[in-house]
Amino acid sequence: EAKRTGGNHCTMFEPAMRERAARRADIESDLRLALVEEQLFVVYQPVVGLREDGGTDFSAGVEALVRWQHPARGVVPPFEFIQVAEESGLIGALGDFVLRRACRDFMAWQRELGSGAPRLLAVNLSRAQLAQPDWPATVQQILDLEGMHPSQLQLEVTESLAAQDQQVQDRLHELKAIGITLALDDFGTGYSSLSSLHQLPVDTVKIDRSFVCQADTSQHHRVLIEATVKVAQSLGMNTVAEGIETEAQAAAVRGQQCAKGQGYLFSRPLTSPALLDWLRAALPAAA
Ligand code: C2E
Ligand code: MG
Ligand code: MG
Ligand code: MG
Repeated sequence: EAKRTGGNHCTMFEPAMRERAARRADIESDLRLALVEEQLFVVYQPVVGLREDGGTDFSAGVEALVRWQHPARGVVPPFEFIQVAEESGLIGALGDFVLRRACRDFMAWQRELGSGAPRLLAVNLSRAQLAQPDWPATVQQILDLEGMHPSQLQLEVTESLAAQDQQVQDRLHELKAIGITLALDDFGTGYSSLSSLHQLPVDTVKIDRSFVCQADTSQHHRVLIEATVKVAQSLGMNTVAEGIETEAQAAAVRGQQCAKGQGYLFSRPLTSPALLDWLRAALPAAA
């Protein structure tokens, strides 16, 4: 079967592959310039607390998400350049930029909003960042420089990353020793399972959007969310439902005792000034 179609595949995909390689090279050289010319910026998506009384805590936290304002192509989404950054070694500089900028913005919100400011900042991590032995020290330096407490920072890693070799595991434990918490991103999409959760040094489990988007319509997905929340709770971990788009999905994940949620229902990712407006609008009128 593979042999019969193999020849065709080669001739059909060769031009596409060449095109992809050329596009990748373009992105890489443009990205190199983008880092120097400060075309990258960071947006923030609120992570809200889903209170047991049915209320919503709008100041629970935010997730930092990188964006690229390309001079010719407009705003480029991360899925188009994160992998290129990883493969070309640019992810270190990109990751440090995002972390620094996000910590600085986070501290500005504290000054601006006091108790109404987000309490937790989540930043996505790449494997290459963890490969640098001195990276935990770099994070500590950034926190010190910005005057941010380590417990206010949460680093997000994927299942495949968290379950990696001993070197990565050691680094994650070093970060935890600083007082930073770790979240397992996109849970349910990787290869690890509920039974291996206890082996990962994470404090929070983020349930992937692919489960959450069917929380209200599929009993199967609801059961999976319920099981994830129960296991996480029994291990002393928090849970966040990603990608909540409707009230029905929010009600469904609340019903499964999921403590936090994130998604377009509450807010799309926002620039720092837009986030401040959003938070101010959410605050009680007296504040
Ligand atoms: P992620 O960490 O799982 O981030 C959540 C993604 O889901 C974001 O996409 C967010 O905009 C999107 N999202 C949030 N709520 C909803 C919703 O209700 N519906 C839908 N359809 N989507 C929703 P984004 O910003 O395009 O980022 C994609 C991925 O790129 C992130 O997934 C993360 O893995 C990666 N990424 C983003 N910023 C960074 C970064 O600074 N460093 C690294 N290493 N990776 C990053
Ligand atoms: Mg994330
Ligand atoms: Mg995610
Ligand atoms: Mg995702």
